[in-house]
Amino acid sequence: MSPPPHLTEGLCGRSRPDHFQGVATIVLKLLNLVHPNRAYFGRKDAQQLAIVQQLVADFNLDTVIVPCPILREPSGLALSSRNQYLSPEQKQQATALFKGLTNAQTLFQSGIRDRDSLLKEIHTTLTQDPNIQLDYADLVDPHTLEPLTQIDREGLVAIAAYVGTTRLIDNILLDGRKPILAIDGPAGAGKSTVTRRCAAALGLLYLDTGAMYRAMTWLVLQSGIALEDEVAIADLVSQAQIELKPGDTLTDPLQVKVNGQEITQAIRSREVTAQVSAVSAQNAVRAVLGKQQQAYGQKGGVAAEGRDIGTHVFPEAGLKIFLTATPAERARRRFAELADPSGLTLEQLAQDIAERDRKDSQRAIAPLRKASDAIEVLTDGLSVDEVVEKLCISITNDAQTLSSRCRMQRRIVLPIHAKRTLGVLNR
Ligand code: C5P
Repeated sequence: MSPPPHLTEGLCGRSRPDHFQGVATIVLKLLNLVHPNRAYFGRKDAQQLAIVQQLVADFNLDTVIVPCPILREPSGLALSSRNQYLSPEQKQQATALFKGLTNAQTLFQSGIRDRDSLLKEIHTTLTQDPNIQLDYADLVDPHTLEPLTQIDREGLVAIAAYVGTTRLIDNILLDGRKPILAIDGPAGAGKSTVTRRCAAALGLLYLDTGAMYRAMTWLVLQSGIALEDEVAIADLVSQAQIELKPGDTLTDPLQVKVNGQEITQAIRSREVTAQVSAVSAQNAVRAVLGKQQQAYGQKGGVAAEGRDIGTHVFPEAGLKIFLTATPAERARRRFAELADPSGLTLEQLAQDIAERDRKDSQRAIAPLRKASDAIEVLTDGLSVDEVVEKLCISITNDAQTLSSRCRMQRRIVLPIHAKRTLGVLNR
């Protein structure tokens, strides 16, 4: 098992040849034996994390790799089994690693993005103490680990240094992108309106991933391909071009085209709604659309809504909301929205919704789930406008904090009053 050289040869690979080949082989064996839904890897070993993420992508493994934040002592020293080799005095000296990284972060936050300035800051900090021998300081892309001359989107500053004879590593992720807001939940919870207005308030791109699955379902139904013919559907979907264009105002519908054809209304038909869960459960469909959704996120600044945004598409989203309401309330809302019920009763609509939720929650790939770090918001008894207003005001008030906290912690907590008002169940 040999990961690509650009991942293994730089950073710690220079002084530890073959180490990462071994890591990749062992992790691959373990994932193949255990088939876990999720595997947690710490960000301190950023090179290992990038290699494991590439491995999971290359081998199409069905495990979500969850990066975990670096844990630190109050002094800033990153926790490590190697810290036991440090004397109390050396532990104090070792805090220079974190100091160098945070100095670089401060420069970055002041708008300085070029490699030379950021790395010079690290060198200056670390060479002040003769007890520290810098092995390397580098600025790389956090995914490909290729050296960066400047940070356009995100950059990883990674360092290794000897304190006495102990070699320590540490790093910091400098993220210049706008935050990602992930809103998931069952059908009829009001996700579209909420997400769209929050996107507008925060200056983020609104991404309705349900519309993408609906567009594909419309295309499959038009083509006459049987829903069970996953190979033909995979082919159709991989060649399809979806275009999403926001309406002129917040109440105008999102314009949807597939292969140049306008299907904004057509994707909301009862037939498409009835079949969308079957199409969206297919591996190839999810792979193609998931990649397109992540590409929007790569540019940064996305408010995306769907079923698996916080769990699969953007597991690192800065803020995750799981928006829900009781089934009866959701059916009532959807029924009230219907311009033309065409004989559909409230009971039938409730059954349709329950059936779609069942299929979406029980499918094998990326089922509808609340992400473990999502904030659950129960919207019963509140109009959609009330939810939007309260959630948006809270997020807007916190917008500055949102973007800076996302850089720092990739997570945010809603202000406490918003939690109370919205009846947040748990976090
Ligand atoms: O949100 P909306 O009701 O338009 O979603 C339609 C369907 O698309 C869902 O019932 C689900 O089957 C699928 N979907 C999905 N993953 C997403 C978004 C939607 O599987 N992220």
